[in-house]
Amino acid sequence: MTMQNQYDAIIIGAGFGGIGTALSLAEKGFKVALFESLRYPGGCAGTFTRRGYRFEAGATLSSGFDEQQLFGKWIKKYGLDIQLEWLSPMIHFRSSTIDIDIPSEKDALIQYLCELPNAPKEGIRAFFKHQGQVADALWALFDDPDLLPPWNLQALIKHAMRFPKYLPILRNMNRSLAQVLQRFGIDDFKPLKIYLDALCQITVQCNSDQAEAPFALATMDYYYRGTAHAVGGMGKLANELCKAITLCGGEVHLSNKVKGIKRIDEGYQVETRKGTYLCKYLISNLLPEQTMALYKSSIKWPKWLEKTQEDVDAGWSAAMLYLVAETPPGTDGKAEHWQMVHSTDEPFMEGNHIFCSTSSIKETDRAPFGSQTLTISTHIPMKKFLSLSDEEKGPYIDKVHNRMRETLQTRCPEWSEQVYFAMTASPRTFERFTSRSKGLVGGIPKTKGWHHYMQLGPKKLASHFYLVGDSIFPGQSTLATATGGCRIAESIWRSAPKKNNQLVLTTALNSKVSS
Ligand SMILES: Cc1cc2nc3c(=O)[nH]c(=O)nc-3n(C[C@H](O)[C@H](O)[C@H](O)COP(=O)(O)OP(=O)(O)OC[C@H]3O[C@@H](n4cnc5c(N)ncnc54)[C@H](O)[C@@H]3O)c2cc1C
Repeated sequence: MTMQNQYDAIIIGAGFGGIGTALSLAEKGFKVALFESLRYPGGCAGTFTRRGYRFEAGATLSSGFDEQQLFGKWIKKYGLDIQLEWLSPMIHFRSSTIDIDIPSEKDALIQYLCELPNAPKEGIRAFFKHQGQVADALWALFDDPDLLPPWNLQALIKHAMRFPKYLPILRNMNRSLAQVLQRFGIDDFKPLKIYLDALCQITVQCNSDQAEAPFALATMDYYYRGTAHAVGGMGKLANELCKAITLCGGEVHLSNKVKGIKRIDEGYQVETRKGTYLCKYLISNLLPEQTMALYKSSIKWPKWLEKTQEDVDAGWSAAMLYLVAETPPGTDGKAEHWQMVHSTDEPFMEGNHIFCSTSSIKETDRAPFGSQTLTISTHIPMKKFLSLSDEEKGPYIDKVHNRMRETLQTRCPEWSEQVYFAMTASPRTFERFTSRSKGLVGGIPKTKGWHHYMQLGPKKLASHFYLVGDSIFPGQSTLATATGGCRIAESIWRSAPKKNNQLVLTTALNSKVSS
C-alpha cells in the first residue's frame, strides 16, 4: 500500500452531505478523498444529461446563498463560478382553494394573507411575529454550524448570551404546527392552513397537523434565507464545491463506487471499483442500511442506527417528470418554481401535490434557446409503496405520473401546453442512480415529538467512523446536509491529534485487517 492510497479521512458519497464534510475537513488540513459512484457529484441534488438536455435530479432550489451563510461564504472564499438568479415571486402556489404568488419579501406575504376575505388579521400578524422569532433563533444555527453540537466553550458562551432568544422555541417543543395555529386562533383560516400544509410537505416532510412546531416554524422562512436559483442547476454548485475541495488539497474520485469497508488496526480499509485505500477516519454519506451493507468486518452497530433506518423507512420516495417545453409566450424566460395542488381535499402526495422548477432560458447548456427544462416531483409514501407486490408497483407509479400530468395541466396550463419532451422516474430510478436503498429520498419526517432533540449530536457508528447525510440532524435539504457535514468535520477536528494546533495525522497506516 503506497502513501498515495492513504488518507486522514475518506468520505463515501458526493451528495451535499459528503461534499460539506470533505470541504470542511480539507479546510482544517485533513488529507481527504471523497468517493462517488456516479460520473458527477450532487446525488439527489445533482444535474444529469439525457438526450442533450440537462435536468436537476431532485433538488432545484437552495437557501444559504447570502454572503454570511454557508454556500455564500464558500462561493466568495473560493471564487466559485456560481451565478444566482434571485426569484420574484419565489413560488407560484396554485391549488383548488387558493392561488398565491409567494412574494420575495415576507412582509408582503403577510399583507397579502391579511387582505384575503375574512382573514383574522390580528391573529395572522401575531402568529408571524412569533414565527419570525423562532425562525431567527433556529436559522442562526444553520448560518453558523459552530453553534450546533459539538459545542466548544466559545459556542456555549454564545448560546448563553442568546438564551432569551431560545425561549420562543421552548414554548413550541412537542407541539404540532396546527396546535400553534390554534393558539393564535387562526387554525380555521383555510388559505393559510393549505399553504402551510403544502410548505411543510416539502420542508419537514409531513403536514401541519403532524409537524414538530419549532422545525416547521423555522422552515416557513425557507424562501427568505438566501434562497435562489443556481444557474446551471444544483449540480453546478456541487461541481464547484468539489473544485473547492481540490483547491484545499483534497481529492474527489468520481465514477469510483465504494464496494466494501473493513476495519484495520488504526483505521479503515476502503475497497472501491478502482482500488483499495486506507484512512484513519471514515465518513459515510449513505443511508444507515447502505452503510451497514458495505461493512465487511464484524461490528456491533449502535442501537440508534436501526431505529434511524426505521424512521427513514416510514418516510418518502419520489416520482418525477423530467420535461422540456418551449418558453410560454409572454413570460420572461427566468427560472420559475411552481407548487401545485390538484385537490386540497386529498392528501398532498402521489401526484395530487407537485413541485415544478424550470431552468432559465439563459441556461442554453440545459435546453436550446427558446426552451426550458422542467423537473417535477411528488411524494411517494414508502410504506404504501413497499406493501405493493412487484406486479402492482408499475401500474401504481403510472397512475401517480398521470396524476402529476393532470395536476400540471389543470394548475399550470401555460407550461403544460408547451411540453415536447418527457421522461419519468420512480423510486427504482433513485435506487439505481443514487444507490439509496429502496429509493428512499425523503430523510426523516420531522413529526411532533421530543425525540428530535435527543439526536442533535454528530452520529458516530464506531471508533473514527461517522454517518452524515439527510438521515442525520439537521436533516433534509442541500443546506442542511452540508451543515451536517461541517459539524462532523468539527467533531473530528476536536478529537484529532494536534501539535501547536496543527494536525499530526498523515502517518503510514498498518493495513492489517482486524477481525
Ligand atoms: C425530488 C426531490 C426534491 C428535492 N428538492 C429539494 C430542494 O428543492 N431544495 C433542497 O435543498 N433540497 C431538496 N431535496 C432534498 C435534497 O436533495 C437532499 O436532502 C440532499 O441532496 C441529500 O444529500 P445527501 O448528501 O444526504 O445524499 P445524496 O444526495 O443521496 O448523496 C449520496 C451520494 O452517495 C453516492 N453513493 C451511493 N452509494 C455509493 C457508494 N457505494 N460509493 C460511492 N458513492 C456512493 C450517490 O451516488 C450520491 O451521490 C429534494 C430531494 C428530492 C429527492
